[in-house]
Order: sequence, then C-alpha cells, then structure tokens
Amino acid sequence: MHELSIVMSIVEAAEEQAMKHQARAVECIDLEIGNLSGIDEHALEFAWEVGVKNTLLEKAHYNINKVKGWARCSNCDCEFEIKELFDPCPLCGEYLINILRGKEMKIQSITLLN
Ligand SMILES: [Zn+2]
Repeated sequence: MHELSIVMSIVEAAEEQAMKHQARAVECIDLEIGNLSGIDEHALEFAWEVGVKNTLLEKAHYNINKVKGWARCSNCDCEFEIKELFDPCPLCGEYLINILRGKEMKIQSITLLN
C-alpha cells in the first residue's frame, strides 16, 4: 500500500530527529499534504495505526495541513488553483501546465517528548 510506505518514511525521519535530541517519544507531528499528492486520508489513518506500532511514534498525534494545488500555464503564464492533476488553464484552455505546489508531502514540525 502506497500510504504505508509514506507512514514508514515519516516514522523513520521522526525517529531520527528523536534520537538526535535524545527524546523518549514523539508527541505530535504536523504533516503538510498537497491536494494533488494522491494521498488518501482514510488510507493514511489506517496505515498510521499499523506503521507506528512499536516505534517512538506509537502514541503520537498527527495533524494534516492541506496545501492547495497551484499551477502556471505554459502558454499564457497565468497562475491558478487546480483541483485535479490534469486540469487545463482556466484562461486559455492549455493543458501544458507546470505544477507549482500541491504534490508534496512533508513533515512540517515534530514535537518531542523528553
Ligand atoms: Zn493559459
């Protein structure tokens, strides 16, 4: 499952931070997830429960901050919000657009328990 490998990489990164700061556990973690990342929140929730077992994140809470999809048209250069990966430019209808934001999935901050 796609989401489980995402959770595992989050766990890995967070545990590395925890070790570095000699923390006992991770209390809270803020995630930034783009609307175009293709990540399903329900699947993520399920994967989270499986993925954090026996790790320093076992009791951690996580918050998801959604990031809007944003793109620039390669024809008329306008910038616009996109909801789907293959939306055309709303001004000229061009399909060749550059995604500026919204595909990312990253850790914003981690709160450690010492
Ligand atoms: Zn355009």
